[in-house]
Amino acid sequence: MALLEFDDVSVTYRSRGTDIPAVRGVTLSVNAGESLGLAGESGCGKTTLTSTVLRMQPKSAKVTGEIRLNGDNILDMTWGQVRALRWADASVVFQGAMHALNPVQKIGDQLAEPITLHDKVSKKDADRRVGELLEMVGLPARRAQAYPHQLSGGQKQRVMIAMALACSPQLIIADEPTTALDVMVQAQVLNVLQGLVKELNVGMVFISHDLSVLSSTCDRIAVMYAGKIVEQGPAADVFDHPQHPYAGALAGAFPRIGDTRYRYSPSGLPGDPPFPGDLPSGCTFHPRCPVAVERCSTTEPNLVKHGDHETACLLVGSEIV
Ligand code: SF4
Repeated sequence: MALLEFDDVSVTYRSRGTDIPAVRGVTLSVNAGESLGLAGESGCGKTTLTSTVLRMQPKSAKVTGEIRLNGDNILDMTWGQVRALRWADASVVFQGAMHALNPVQKIGDQLAEPITLHDKVSKKDADRRVGELLEMVGLPARRAQAYPHQLSGGQKQRVMIAMALACSPQLIIADEPTTALDVMVQAQVLNVLQGLVKELNVGMVFISHDLSVLSSTCDRIAVMYAGKIVEQGPAADVFDHPQHPYAGALAGAFPRIGDTRYRYSPSGLPGDPPFPGDLPSGCTFHPRCPVAVERCSTTEPNLVKHGDHETACLLVGSEIV
């Protein structure tokens, strides 16, 4: 049994009397000790999908399918059970989360808070755990006495990773955790995350639009477009030998880790992903696809196994590609 399983998960937002499909029938799994990279441009459904694990959607969202953590369907849980699950079983490192630190509270006190709340341990034991957590992310334990303004951006993001680890969760969701950092610091933080997955045997879902970052950090990659998985497979192989034209565009747009020239045009393709409330017919990628043929505008491809990959493209495996 996988640690985390998304089974035919769809998320629909109700807005002004209309259903907006943000995630459409996603099936994915993550094992303990494994990292899954979730790639795609903004608006493709990556964050919406992973937010279902901690039930963080607004009230207007309808979630269907099953999201199982250790076999238990999160959608069947009471709010009390979901609250207990947050931090202790699954936690999140948000994009730019380092700015969420309380500027007038010492790092150590902020890290100790979830530990004392969830584990009901003494202040002394919580302080000892804080020291361990800081060392785990490569910071000296004495930095517990620092205020956020006394730390660099990379150190603050390490603190946020330590906070996500505070209650020893089995699953960490890292949502663009290094986007705000420079290239050197980004590499250091990624090394920390990569090491922790293996050392602590946790599962990690790592969200990024940067396929090169994911290929160097994760075991597997799943690429999302317009709320669906369009390709998934072994990380290095998806990056080096993408099958889906969209995965190919993402891989080609990032020739080197952290090359910021491509940061604001992650796919290098013209235009943007479609608005979820106004999806094109057929393959939703066809208006931007450089190799689209006539039937792409009428037939929606399913995810089909091709070697180690699963790919949703009508032309993959055919003579035309
Ligand atoms: Fe491009 Fe057609 Fe494949 Fe879609 S199905 S990715 S439009 S070639």
